Parts: sequence; C-alpha cells; structure tokens
Amino acid sequence: MQLAVIYHGGEGMSKIKGRCHCGSVNWELELPIKTVVKCHCSMCRQLNGADHSTYIVVSKRQFSLLKGDDSVTHYQVTDKSYKNFCAVCGTATHLVNGKHFPDDFVLPLGIVENYTDELAPQIQVYTSEKPAWSNIHDDVPLFS
Ligand SMILES: [Zn+2]
Ligand SMILES: [Zn+2]
Repeated sequence: MQLAVIYHGGEGMSKIKGRCHCGSVNWELELPIKTVVKCHCSMCRQLNGADHSTYIVVSKRQFSLLKGDDSVTHYQVTDKSYKNFCAVCGTATHLVNGKHFPDDFVLPLGIVENYTDELAPQIQVYTSEKPAWSNIHDDVPLFS
C-alpha cells in the first residue's frame, strides 16, 4: 500500500504487487501478464506442499524486485528451472521455468496483494499427475 505513490504516471497502468509472508521480499509486475496457470504436476506439489500451484506468467522485463535482494535465495529444481524464495520465511517468491517459459518469471498467485480479474486462472496443466485426493472443482479449462 505504501508503495502506491511511487508510480510516474505513464499509461496509468496499475501494477500488481506481491510479498512473502514476513515482508522481507516485495515485488511488482506490470500488466498485461501472459497467462495464469494452475499446475497439478508432482514437482510443484512437492515444492509448494499444496495440491496444486497457481502461477502468473509474466515477461521478466515487466517484473521488478522492490525489496529483499539480499533475502532471496534459490533452489535449482532442474537444469533449466529454479525457485527463488525468501530465506527468512521460506515463501516462494518468483520462479523460473526454463523449459516452458525461458523469458518469463512464474509468480505464485497466492502471494499477490492486490488481485484483479486480469489474474484469473486461464488454464490447468499436468492434470494427469494430480493425486487421487485432489479434486478439481472449477471450470478453468484443462490442457493436460
Ligand atoms: Zn519472507
Ligand atoms: Zn508444476
């Protein structure tokens, strides 16, 4: 909220803000985003400890780390993908999926502070890896 005054007008486009649980890491992104994906893959399930993970995909050029450069650490998930997270509270803050989105960050929708409809999930992927105990209760289109 306190950051809302720093924008210098331009096209007047609003920015989306995210923060980790402890507040050490803050970022913002510039709309428009590429897509929002609900991922049911087993790798995301383990990394985030959740039945599925929902990510905003946005060009790296539209992402700014506002605070927490020295608090962010990372985990190399595969040779092309890594997860940046807050070393203080452990929140995943911004990830890179080098296989599918090499020029983008994938940002957990769950840490967004000012949600707008432009961030509504558009597609669900890797549903074949969904565990038996997880049920899909929405109309977001399934891709795989
Ligand atoms: Zn934190
Ligand atoms: Zn996944």
